[in-house]
Amino acid sequence: MNTKTINFQVEKTAESKINAVDWDNLPFGKVFSDHMLEMDYADGKWQDPVIRPFQDLKMHPATSVIHYGQSIFEGLKAYRKEDGSVSIFRPEMNGKRFAESCKRMCMPELSPELFVELVAKLVEIDEAWVPKKEGYSLYIRPFLFAMDDYIGIKPSDTYKFMIFTCPVGAYYAQPLNVKIEENYTRAAEGGVGRAKTAGNYAASLYPAMLGQKEGFHQLVWTDAKEHKYIEESGTMNIMFVIDDVLITPSEESDTILRGITKRSVVEVAQQWGMKVEERKVTVEEIITACKEGRVQEAFGAGTAATIAPIKMIGFRDEKFELPAVETREFSNKVHQYLDDLKIGKIADENNWVFNV
Ligand code: PMP
Repeated sequence: MNTKTINFQVEKTAESKINAVDWDNLPFGKVFSDHMLEMDYADGKWQDPVIRPFQDLKMHPATSVIHYGQSIFEGLKAYRKEDGSVSIFRPEMNGKRFAESCKRMCMPELSPELFVELVAKLVEIDEAWVPKKEGYSLYIRPFLFAMDDYIGIKPSDTYKFMIFTCPVGAYYAQPLNVKIEENYTRAAEGGVGRAKTAGNYAASLYPAMLGQKEGFHQLVWTDAKEHKYIEESGTMNIMFVIDDVLITPSEESDTILRGITKRSVVEVAQQWGMKVEERKVTVEEIITACKEGRVQEAFGAGTAATIAPIKMIGFRDEKFELPAVETREFSNKVHQYLDDLKIGKIADENNWVFNV
């Protein structure tokens, strides 16, 4: 579909719910903006997108996605800039990742350009829902799922692409206690770890719950074969500063989600002249560095928190406390830099900010 000629049908709500929103008390993901976007895939092609009032979906009990999980999603945010306009951070990267997820899950691809156009249109229509308070944002959830009314196992012939948005409050990044997980796995080579698909999240719930019972906020996932290599932390990419070098597991294996926050942190670090290593990271080297007091910083990187400092790493029966969060030069600086960039406080030298 040529994005210049998208034929949007827009049905505006007769009664906005915006005045009922308690902006001082916004629970994450429970308040929904007035409109949603739907675009069906049928007869071998994408149909025209429709923007309509936010409402329930009606589904056949045999709808393929419910049974076999052909379902992918994205998560990104729109921000209120200092001049009152609205920005979205690197949405074309989400579009690219969405197309990769489509491919892996045997679903029809959307071009990254079309993805961005659809996201931007919905955000424009619900522009008033982008919060004005500092640190707040509009969370954007694009997703695609299989729609055939058929319980045979095969790629669906019909799909529904949707987007809705939620105003969300400032994410308080509570410093995390994480546990290096050696029994359960998030993703195996040859599997679907690189795709942002529903089942990856379902599979992580039980081990995460066990970790929480032991007092850990999140798990650090390791490779499925040997539990020897560090992969990700919860639903964030993981990064370390050791001996002044920024170290993060490389994306060569198909078990790690290609995070946009991590990519941005890596690129900024390189621009600041910092040494960056994207490579296999062993559990052993991290534990040794912890014991020798060489881990200066450890953090998760993801859209929700941007940077979530890790304060303690648990491994088997040991717990390693990391340096106080206030002393962490790089992660505090990069966090501030990305926050400022999104709201237009500093020059966008890399052209990362998409203006709606
Ligand atoms: N890993 C996983 C498994 C995730 O779900 C996310 C969140 N999308 C990330 C990493 C971080 O990606 P991003 O920076 O694009 O939000």
